[in-house]
Amino acid sequence: MSNAIETDVAIIGAGPIGLFAVFELGLLDLKAHLVDILDRPGGQCTELYPEKPIYDIPGLPIVTGQELTDRLMEQIKPFGATFHLGEMAAALEKQPDGRWRLKTDAGTEIIAPVVVVAAGGGSFVPKRPPVPGIEAYENRGDGVGVHYAVRKMDMFRGKNILIAGGGDSALDWTLNLAPLAKSLTLVHHRDGFRAAQHSVNKMRELVEQGKINFHVASVKGLHGEGKLEAVTLEGADKKQWQLDTDAFLPFFGLTIKLGPIAEFGLNLHENLIPVDTAKFESATPGIFAIGDINSYPGKLKLILSGFHEAALMAQAAFHVCKPNEKLRFQYTTSSSSLQKKLGVS
Ligand SMILES: Cc1cc2nc3c(=O)[nH]c(=O)nc-3n(C[C@H](O)[C@H](O)[C@H](O)COP(=O)(O)OP(=O)(O)OC[C@H]3O[C@@H](n4cnc5c(N)ncnc54)[C@H](O)[C@@H]3O)c2cc1C
Repeated sequence: MSNAIETDVAIIGAGPIGLFAVFELGLLDLKAHLVDILDRPGGQCTELYPEKPIYDIPGLPIVTGQELTDRLMEQIKPFGATFHLGEMAAALEKQPDGRWRLKTDAGTEIIAPVVVVAAGGGSFVPKRPPVPGIEAYENRGDGVGVHYAVRKMDMFRGKNILIAGGGDSALDWTLNLAPLAKSLTLVHHRDGFRAAQHSVNKMRELVEQGKINFHVASVKGLHGEGKLEAVTLEGADKKQWQLDTDAFLPFFGLTIKLGPIAEFGLNLHENLIPVDTAKFESATPGIFAIGDINSYPGKLKLILSGFHEAALMAQAAFHVCKPNEKLRFQYTTSSSSLQKKLGVS
């Protein structure tokens, strides 16, 4: 006998978009099970920038990655979704009755007419810079050494910080850590950045005010017995010098390890799932893709875009799950399902 769980929707990924999908599906009385490799919900928000402020969530002028996740968890509480955390979605098979069977590497099996892939960039693995012996200094819990993510900003208070990179993560953390660092130096191999222009402008202002340093340089060596004490930098003119450094934060991007999703037969294009913009369904009927994992003309990898995608996906998923029922569009204030769950009548 199979112990498979039967539900309306299986969601792969409990990042912000997978979480909000629970809300949109719940409004339509659709039950969801979520699977995530990580041991906690929130995806990139909690894994990569729990304390960084986000400024572009409508109605929340400033919210950190962790706070946004906490609020989403509160918002979806009435719908009682089941989380399968620390499990990787490993295989997807079509059943003879047309539903999908999603298997995880922990042996969980979920049977559902709809699968929503909200897997972001997959399991994200930071790119390690080619500096000899770097592994020995990685991820100490006291803010000293090499860190590829900032889980607790306060860990870096009063430290000599070196940040390397030219993208949004490097610039975001330069701006956010500058006020609490003893000293902060940003290095990039050229004087041009891929990051948002306003962040670059702000960084240059801080350099002009003498609050941080910027060098066109790369990191060539790490030094310190037992803990990081200094780095060797090399400038564009090949001259080398040493810089006292407690914490080195390289932000050279993340390697997208999509893992098993790449084998789900979803017609991936550059590791993304092409979708239509009316339903956010993939080319495979019954499999939807929302958030950072999908692609369509004009796609912006923003949380608010993913929220919109979740709303449209839910409307379409309803018709797959309940083909004989009519869907009446309702605002949340008149949604009988939500009112009942919130105990408001
Ligand atoms: C430094 C930084 C700053 C940012 N700032 C902003 C900002 O200010 N505003 C904004 O709108 N956006 C910002 N973003 C982008 C934003 O975080 C993403 O758009 C958002 O996280 C996408 O959400 P998601 O749910 O699609 O994917 P993710 O957050 O990537 O979550 C996907 C989840 O799927 C899981 N997963 C993947 N594959 C599997 C599998 N096979 N099995 C099980 N689980 C799986 C992953 O573990 C992960 O938890 C920022 C990103 C970074 C890195």
